[in-house]
Amino acid sequence: MSDFAAILTFANGKTLEFHGPADITKETTEAVVNAANSSLLGGGGVDGAIHRAGGPSILQECKRIVAAIGTLPAGKAVITTGGRLPAKYVIHTVGPVYRGGERHEAETLASCYRESMRTADDHGIRSLAFPSISTGAFGYPVREAAEIAARTIVEALPTCAHVEHVRFVLFDPATCKAYVRAAEKISRESMAISVIFTKGPS
Ligand code: ADP
Repeated sequence: MSDFAAILTFANGKTLEFHGPADITKETTEAVVNAANSSLLGGGGVDGAIHRAGGPSILQECKRIVAAIGTLPAGKAVITTGGRLPAKYVIHTVGPVYRGGERHEAETLASCYRESMRTADDHGIRSLAFPSISTGAFGYPVREAAEIAARTIVEALPTCAHVEHVRFVLFDPATCKAYVRAAEKISRESMAISVIFTKGPS
């Protein structure tokens, strides 16, 4: 059961949702995004959860990708099957490791969201779910990361040919709170025609 949700609806009917506390491996969007590391061999946090729930076919495809293109640089994204996940696809992106908030770190984080959206759109995907990239093991402060994440999706969503629904699936209450604050701030400046906060931060 989620105890938090905010929904921004845009003029063309597209939506951006913020949802949690919730587990992205249970998501029924067409694709889910994985906060991977450059090796694409799996790791802890959301990466480990996605590989455990999705099964070995995801890792097999990741290994084929690394054999073909090498390790995945931060800010880039690739797509594999969703294996046994409810989602049909996993889009793997590598967030920046936080080392003090230099500008290129924010740009790399924004690139993760943009490249994931572009990859989804190139595959005709209509709905996708994101975790909070880089704010776990990679140490990005969640308040800053939430604003970059939400702002980048608000900019990218209208230009997508296929992607219509984007959902942030946030694992813990503190992350939820940071994202709803970012949603509130950005909704005041964005092209969203309606904003519904069903349950805000306490
Ligand atoms: P990174 O290495 O990019 O920091 P982490 O997986 O360590 O990635 O953490 C990113 C975010 O994902 C954190 O907010 C963490 O709490 C969250 N997370 C961990 N497991 C899940 C899950 N099953 N579903 C959604 N989010 C998750």
